[in-house]
Amino acid sequence: MNFIFFGPQGSGKGTQAERIAGRYGLCHISSGDLLRHVEGNLKDEVREVMQRGDLVSDDLMVRVLKERLDRGDCKDGIILDGFPRNVAQAKLLKGIINIDKAIEIAISDDEAVRRISGRRICKSCDSIFNVNGSSMPKVEGVCDKCGGELIKRKDDNEEALRERLKIYHVETERVLNWYKFMRINGEQSIEKVESDIIDSLGKLS
Ligand code: AMP
Repeated sequence: MNFIFFGPQGSGKGTQAERIAGRYGLCHISSGDLLRHVEGNLKDEVREVMQRGDLVSDDLMVRVLKERLDRGDCKDGIILDGFPRNVAQAKLLKGIINIDKAIEIAISDDEAVRRISGRRICKSCDSIFNVNGSSMPKVEGVCDKCGGELIKRKDDNEEALRERLKIYHVETERVLNWYKFMRINGEQSIEKVESDIIDSLGKLS
């Protein structure tokens, strides 16, 4: 089974994708994480685009995604997180894999701004924490999982965030109807959102 998790920045879709992937033995593929680890001559260009909050080109995104899928370690299925983000990408995805179901985790823009200002990410393993919320690290600045350094993402500033939210509402929301999807209220505890997702995946057929 292949799923897509949609949601605006700060909705917790990365956290939920990781939990659900772990529960069902799926690969969690985050387009943002793939791009943050691009190496070689494209590295500086990708970093600059991401820091502005803009989208990288569809061609590059699809190339990076295909490279990830070609590793061949996702035989039981995947959860895509952050891709597709527009209609052009949804069309390209059709030629790559079949999507069974999608979930949208919805939060308001004000809640997104509040959450993103507290978001910290592990430099080593990409685990996500929030210093304003329920997923605070046990030791300030240190990843609970691997001991790596926690940093604020360069694109987690208000200007870039507003740009990313605009893209989400204008371009990404248009893609939802391409899939069998259910909308989940993301302004609940992590556990409640997770159980709502499990229920919804069971109901979508
Ligand atoms: P995220 O970690 O999902 O918030 O993504 C961070 C940044 O990576 C975005 O603001 C974009 O610059 C880039 N990015 C992630 N996914 C995509 C995508 N599907 N298409 C183009 N750019 C993307």
